[in-house]
Amino acid sequence: MSPIKGVTGPGEASVEYRLVRDAKARAVRTGRMSAEDVCDAHPELLRAAKHIGRPTKERCPVCDDAVTVEVTYVFGAKLPAGGTCPGTPAELKALLRREEPVQAYTVEVCTACKFHHLLRRYPGEGPSTPARRRTRSGS
Ligand SMILES: [Zn+2]
Repeated sequence: MSPIKGVTGPGEASVEYRLVRDAKARAVRTGRMSAEDVCDAHPELLRAAKHIGRPTKERCPVCDDAVTVEVTYVFGAKLPAGGTCPGTPAELKALLRREEPVQAYTVEVCTACKFHHLLRRYPGEGPSTPARRRTRSGS
């Protein structure tokens, strides 16, 4: 089972996750949703957040007690069913360049109140071959 809530299958149209997140946080602040509804991060997700989460520049929209961190999970063929959680940017890069197609999910987590929300989802880049040149200039 995946520790991430809200993960859906590939092919779903891209969603403005941030708007959903802000709406959720607002709903809690105004009492339309209870904090327990959104602050229930899976223990595994919390552990990952504490150990390998990358701090964002934003304070938690729910409790305002801590800066949130980002944790990225990668799902794909030949990876654990619950996804794998790269501990370093280099590891993440390697996962995104696997032969098999992968999907990465970045989740924002507050380790203070356990608020968590899916921030973005993106596909892997595929294996990099010497023939494939990067056309993107470093701007
Ligand atoms: Zn919080």
